Amino acid sequence: MIVILKSNPNRDQLESLITWLQEKGITIHTSIGESHTILGLVGDTSALDIDLIAALDIVDDVKRVQEPYKNANRKFHPADTVVKVRDTQIGGGNLTIMAGPCSVESEEQVVTIAKAVKKSGATMLRGGAFKPRTSPYSFQGLGATGIEYLKAAREETGLPIVTELMDLSQLPLFKDVDVIQIGARNMQNFDLLKAVGRQEKPVMIKRGMSATYEEWLMSAEYVMAGGNQNVILCERGIRTFETYTRNTLDLACIPVLRKLTHLPIIIDPSHATGKSWLVDPLATGAVATGCDGLLIEVHNDPAHALCDGPQSLKPEVFDALAHKLLKLHACMRDLEA
Ligand code: PEP
Ligand code: MN
Repeated sequence: MIVILKSNPNRDQLESLITWLQEKGITIHTSIGESHTILGLVGDTSALDIDLIAALDIVDDVKRVQEPYKNANRKFHPADTVVKVRDTQIGGGNLTIMAGPCSVESEEQVVTIAKAVKKSGATMLRGGAFKPRTSPYSFQGLGATGIEYLKAAREETGLPIVTELMDLSQLPLFKDVDVIQIGARNMQNFDLLKAVGRQEKPVMIKRGMSATYEEWLMSAEYVMAGGNQNVILCERGIRTFETYTRNTLDLACIPVLRKLTHLPIIIDPSHATGKSWLVDPLATGAVATGCDGLLIEVHNDPAHALCDGPQSLKPEVFDALAHKLLKLHACMRDLEA
């Protein structure tokens, strides 16, 4: 971190800043210029509040040269993280296809869809038991019963299950879930992030609707700082001025995150677009861009789905797409070999 001081800084204030930083274990390199003095801060600056320092009377500007996230940072962990979930691995060159309904609606529904997506090549079953709905009058999910139905579908198909945790109080119900999903709306629910950081199950963090890469990675950092290194990132579209699609899919996040972090990257074209016919082209683009996996909503009867029907694929449409994506992924690996 670099602190640029105003010209002729008050000596007492400067001394107290320097003492305060040294007490935090920071070494200071001072460089005196013609008009400005610059302090180069060396050491672990991740716990320093940049805004607090910038607000001091004697400070003109502060610049970070190191990212504020450490555990999630590729600089300190060059090898890709591979998250093991039962018999499957997320990251490490695999293409993970997570598929299933937006909401678990009944045991029969989720078991039927699970069997279909498994046959098509999906490696994980997704389904919401607790649903974050914009309207309190919309279907809110089956809750604990929904998790039981997901477990029944796993029993039938062997597919590991990923489902969203909305609130701390629900955590005990997730003891048999394979991957805990933190939804876009909860990406900065720091108590929830701390709680899933204190347990060992893999955690998939969806990007907040208006979150920057750094904010998203800081959410991953919360989980990792608690001891849980099994973190997966999921891009699900961000809010822009465009209203034609539900959100705007940010495919640039794939190469950017590859550079910044070692964590696996999943792309969710369903929530990103809100339209079933856009899922195929954007999933294809995501695989070509190098994602580690996809999260795709599939429903046996989208017209009557209790949640997100317009963006859900029918099993037969998903079947064709999954085959194409697996072929494309193999092609990309050959091209890059
Ligand atoms: C979901 O995956 O069903 C969901 C609610 O996603 P998001 O948090 O990305 O809106
Ligand atoms: Mn959904």
